[in-house]
Amino acid sequence: MSYVGDMIRLFVPHPLLADTAFPLDDAQSRYLSLVMRRAVGDEVEVFNGKDGAWVCRLDQVTKRHVILCPKTQTSPQTEGPDLVLLMALVKRGPLETVIEKATELGVSEIWLVQTDRTNADRIREDRLRAIAIEAAEQTGRLNVPLIRSPARLDRCLDTWSTDRRLIFCDEAGDSMPMQAALGAVQSGPWAVLIGPEGGFSPAERARIRGLEGAVPVSLGPRILRADTAAISALTLWQSALGDWRG
Ligand code: SAH
Repeated sequence: MSYVGDMIRLFVPHPLLADTAFPLDDAQSRYLSLVMRRAVGDEVEVFNGKDGAWVCRLDQVTKRHVILCPKTQTSPQTEGPDLVLLMALVKRGPLETVIEKATELGVSEIWLVQTDRTNADRIREDRLRAIAIEAAEQTGRLNVPLIRSPARLDRCLDTWSTDRRLIFCDEAGDSMPMQAALGAVQSGPWAVLIGPEGGFSPAERARIRGLEGAVPVSLGPRILRADTAAISALTLWQSALGDWRG
């Protein structure tokens, strides 16, 4: 739940059709009625990832049940760039930071990957998805990035689609600067791969570099923490090939 301008934005799992009312869930109802003290007749902006953004009027407000009715569509559904982040499992704090920042930076999907050196902290996927929704509401997206459950990196590479180029952020430092690497390629389906705190194993490095369409890149002369690296790489990609180009 988040503000944009002075209007609250909410992501809902309901179809959005003019004058077709729908109920909010418990948490969203409480937020509007108890926290934000909204009343019947007030308006919020709603999106569902398919039908664009709609201004909805509050038709019924009780503590636990708010009913919204879509009135006007304020923007058609648009999709951001086809950009997937493959993120090695890191500690909870940095991982949650990456989910939020990658959502703001417009990724379409986040694939959680297990690598040779990932730590096996328990992943609370429901919490990560809630963070992605909150960030999508705040950042003004019309969809929420899909978060794929943890899978082994080598399984992802086994089934890699050759039409998707892969930016391999390799801390080993013997790769082309990312900025230069992106200057020579086209837009289209891309992915960015970020390793864990322990970095990539030699076997992984060889496997990834052997992948058709892999572009090993350096993010400069210093070793960045995984969350810093993810934010930096996504920023460079958006600026060179994505929707920051205007
Ligand atoms: N512990 C490792 C660093 C891992 S940093 C070591 O000390 O070498 C976590 C991930 O961030 C790396 O696997 C890589 O994907 C990315 N990363 C960090 N710094 C980078 C750099 N300078 N260039 C490219 N990728 C980098």
